Amino acid sequence: MLKTTYFTPMKVLLIDSLAEECTEILEKAGIQAVSRPGIPPDELKEEIKDYEGVILRSGARIAEEVLTNAHRLRAICRAGVGVDNVDIEGATKRGIVVMNTPEGNTISAAEHTIALLFAMARKVSQAHKSLQKGEWEKKKFTGSQLSGKTLGVIGLGRIGRQVAKRAAALEMKVIAFDPYISPEIAAQYPIHKVDSLEELLGQADFVTIHVPLNNSTRNLITKREFELMKRGVGIVNASRGGIVSERDLYDAIVSGKVSGAAIDVFEVEPPRGNKLLELEQVIATPHLGAQTEEAQKAVAVEAAELMVDALTGRGFRNALNLPVASPEEFEQLRPFIGIAEKMGTFLMQLTDCGVRTVTLIYAGDIARKNTRLVTDSFLVGLLRPCLEEGANLVSAPVLAMEKGIEVSVTTSSLCGNFTNLVTARVKTGKVECSLTGAIFNGGEARIVNIDGYNVEALLEGNMLVIYAKDKPGLIGSVGTLLGKRNTNIARMTFGRKQAGGTAILIINVDGPVSLDVQEEIRRLENVNSVRMVYLA
Ligand code: NAD
Repeated sequence: MLKTTYFTPMKVLLIDSLAEECTEILEKAGIQAVSRPGIPPDELKEEIKDYEGVILRSGARIAEEVLTNAHRLRAICRAGVGVDNVDIEGATKRGIVVMNTPEGNTISAAEHTIALLFAMARKVSQAHKSLQKGEWEKKKFTGSQLSGKTLGVIGLGRIGRQVAKRAAALEMKVIAFDPYISPEIAAQYPIHKVDSLEELLGQADFVTIHVPLNNSTRNLITKREFELMKRGVGIVNASRGGIVSERDLYDAIVSGKVSGAAIDVFEVEPPRGNKLLELEQVIATPHLGAQTEEAQKAVAVEAAELMVDALTGRGFRNALNLPVASPEEFEQLRPFIGIAEKMGTFLMQLTDCGVRTVTLIYAGDIARKNTRLVTDSFLVGLLRPCLEEGANLVSAPVLAMEKGIEVSVTTSSLCGNFTNLVTARVKTGKVECSLTGAIFNGGEARIVNIDGYNVEALLEGNMLVIYAKDKPGLIGSVGTLLGKRNTNIARMTFGRKQAGGTAILIINVDGPVSLDVQEEIRRLENVNSVRMVYLA
């Protein structure tokens, strides 16, 4: 008989207009793409519950309120750079990865900045309007030459660097302020790096801003900063509205301190009733920085590719709320990620969900890799037995912090005969427990030490962990009892520190062992404690 299998394809919601290549790439990967540009927030809140992914540009917004309903959502991708329209914290808490496509529109945004700079300096827009009115004014539109002038670039990131390169080619002297860029990186660009914003503002004939909008850059340029600038300075802002105070810019223009401003971004977009637009010294464009065919296509393609990778388990590139791992890095880390997660689940069950502090020690090759992902995997596993909905790589660090679990990470050069070791030490209020895992050639993962006992155990399935006195007959008595209770042993590992001391017995069994049987084992001669651990 022919059996038909129905399955629901994964769905991605596009809530801004995106180049058609975006839909094509998603559908080719078997993911259904639904385009709803301009969907109102209340409808989005309802609609989002059916989707695994959302792609947006700068027009739409994903607020906390919307996320409360996003039960299936696993990934949000912003086609572009700025993610101030996505509630990253809310997404992180819910285990939703947030990604962006920072490269695709860099050149277009830099070119637009230069276009605004020229247009402002040569009053192109004002002269054009005047000509349309039938006027032939020349003196009124006397401009200033860029060559030989000083351009102050605030924020020497992707776009700032491209602006700097282009401005230098125009024979401008470029100075830049970016406290987070090392002198070595700055030295690769034709700029002079200054040490403070004040220094830049005091020297620049033109100032252009290329920082992200966040709590420390909101109102970065206000009355105080305008006062520090040269009289007659020109301002370009093609970064984000809210970084330059519009009210203070208005006052600075009216007072003559600022001779002109070229603005692509506004505190409120579209900027209805914005007084700046009434000033003849201001030229403005409606957030056009990335609005070129090339940039639109590049960000849409990149967003779709990132989404496909994220939803099909190929890894999270450009994740903003995850430790970054390239696909290659992810591949190298995969065995460690796997074993770390199981170690977390194992230790949490062994300690009755009471873990207060965690120390992860990486030794060997792994110590030189990006261990954040491995640490977070450990936390995913650790939290799994004590959280209703579990945790994932994105939400685990936040949830661990919320639960008051202190996490510290160190590296060690002590690796013994192994090439890699991952040791996890956990403490509850009462007990301390440790587990060491090793990855062997070929990627096989095994536990090689538990609480100081050398073992060779596979972390899988149902495991009985028994601490006992190392006396003859121990293994036999446990095995016999399990046999009588119809429990099949799949694998058994024994470890001891010295003959006649305490020993550990780890038994992989084919099915769960009831509490009654566990109690029977506990009552066997020489047995100190018994615990059942379940691993996926
Ligand atoms: P980026 O992250 O590559 O660079 C930002 C730089 O700003 C970083 O080097 C950072 O160190 C620096 N920075 C942060 N805080 C600073 C501070 N207080 N003072 C000085 N420097 C600081 O970002 P990017 O891709 O270059 O984008 C820059 C801006 O342009 C962002 O706001 C982005 O949203 C915006 N953007 C606008 C458009 C548009 O259409 N107008 C298009 C793309 C990007």
